[in-house]
Amino acid sequence: MNIKVLSPQVAAKIAAGEVVERPASVVKELLENALDAGAGQIAIETKGGGLESIRITDDGCGIAAEDVETAFGRYATSKITRVEDLDGIATLGFRGEALASIAAVAQVDLTTGIKESTVGDSLTLKDGLVVRHIQQARPHGTTITVRDLFRNVPARLKFLKSTATENSHIANVVSQYALAYPEIRFFLNIDGRTALQTTGSGKLIDVILEIYGLETAHRMLEISGGEVGWQDGQAVPITVTGMVGAPSVNKAGRDSLSFFVNRRVIGSRLLTRAVEEAYQGLLMQGRHPIAIININLPPSEVDVNIHPTKAEVKFQNERAVFTAVQRAVRSVLVTSAPVAKIEESQKQYTGQSSGMTQPLWSGPVRENSAAQPSTNAQSPRMTLPLLRVLGQAAANYIVAEGPDGVYVIDQHAAHERIMYEKLLAEKATRGIQVQGMLEPYSFEVTPPQDEMLKAEAAQLQDFGFTIEAFGERTYLVRAVPSVLKDGDWLPALREILDSPRGKTTDVEDDIIKSLACHSAVRAGKMLTDDEMRELIRQLEQVNLPNTCPHGRPTMLHLSIGQLEKEFGRI
Ligand code: ADP
Ligand code: MG
Repeated sequence: MNIKVLSPQVAAKIAAGEVVERPASVVKELLENALDAGAGQIAIETKGGGLESIRITDDGCGIAAEDVETAFGRYATSKITRVEDLDGIATLGFRGEALASIAAVAQVDLTTGIKESTVGDSLTLKDGLVVRHIQQARPHGTTITVRDLFRNVPARLKFLKSTATENSHIANVVSQYALAYPEIRFFLNIDGRTALQTTGSGKLIDVILEIYGLETAHRMLEISGGEVGWQDGQAVPITVTGMVGAPSVNKAGRDSLSFFVNRRVIGSRLLTRAVEEAYQGLLMQGRHPIAIININLPPSEVDVNIHPTKAEVKFQNERAVFTAVQRAVRSVLVTSAPVAKIEESQKQYTGQSSGMTQPLWSGPVRENSAAQPSTNAQSPRMTLPLLRVLGQAAANYIVAEGPDGVYVIDQHAAHERIMYEKLLAEKATRGIQVQGMLEPYSFEVTPPQDEMLKAEAAQLQDFGFTIEAFGERTYLVRAVPSVLKDGDWLPALREILDSPRGKTTDVEDDIIKSLACHSAVRAGKMLTDDEMRELIRQLEQVNLPNTCPHGRPTMLHLSIGQLEKEFGRI
């Protein structure tokens, strides 16, 4: 057998296979070039799954006349010059392979112009060789048209999927870059149809709206986490930003997870795991979240030169990055209220035929972090998975099923917890909601109660009681906290006035507990399925679902494992 050195053209085609696997790879490389060129607008037009043609137009810096042919040479790049540069790559490209590889497997037309000149260059390449090069007027920017991709590589063509599949890969690549660069206007046209168009407003949520739609965009939560990782005793600054979906928006597959490291689109099992761990207990099995995660860290902390298509990176300190991402996502999930969800469920409830116009439960108010109950700081949240209500037992307990077993929930204790956190939040934000009385109510108090009332008049006022003196130990009540419906406010007030207070008693907290207790649904009340479901939904959203404000448990949990043990299955 003869051993022969491959001709440069054949060698180039083989090497191209590494970078240009399918039409979407061409789109990715050309997009990265446009981004590296500082474009503000990028238009992508494809035909026939990208095999017929791919055209990308940008308004970036362009390529100078003297460099334009060189750009197609193998390892021709303007982005790095020395080996050391590989340790701190700030551009998306750096290997100088893409244009050469694409030109080896397609026909390429390029027109480009730079700011400093009104005359640009236009060239055509066939089989990697320049067959035409003329001067042509054009404003700064570059247009590259790639035609007949893989026509000269039948083996590669065989591996491609249907046009629809290739189109979806292309749309995905463009969507990812649009999410990574909200300040840039992207325009994607596939076979004459506009597939995606972003505004370049700089707001991630605007891009999410375009890609995932209004419904999802409404339920996205913003992450911002400056985290510090550690390596060899040195602090490593890692910033995690982006948005994640509230647990109520979830998908069957993992394809709605986007990771950008220093604004490079990457795939990463490590980061996927970090995000999924953050959602632990919040999503049902087999469901996956939507997340757009930007990680910024010093370029020296990440090696982007480990993968032929730069689709993966290696972190110097994986643990630090993992924890930073996991924590940033977890903390937003724990502190954010899925407001839309609450509104929706209330609407659903009022739509019921039970004759009530007011929802029985009003959800916890969490408008900003200041509204967080103070207990949140000390105690970790014990999350409750999504539960399915099975029924009510003894007019006292809600029986529900979760992914990890059966829950028996004390309706009064659980609702007390919900009301307690709602009141704390209300107090911290706009103040306790007040309900005026149609007619002032006069009531008498005992001397000790009288002392208490005088001592705590200010706090009572803060919590929504408007009380005026009306003669000897007689008072007029003009308004009460609106959580205490109808007759409940008087027993609540009496309890507040009767409670012994120690020196260290937190009066406010005591009052909130009394209000929570008296506004919560009583034990012994029959609940409809909707009422139970709504109560559970709200319990899923509180910070400490497992205990009532007095510290007693709200629920009993029997895991599948326990059940199996009890029944002698294991
Ligand atoms: P790399 O991006 O790794 O440098 P490429 O083969 O993709 O390698 O591109 C080679 C060079 O051509 C780039 O370094 C850049 O100088 C130039 N170039 C390619 N595309 C563009 C573009 N759209 N705008 C301006 N310059 C470009
Ligand atoms: Mg490139």
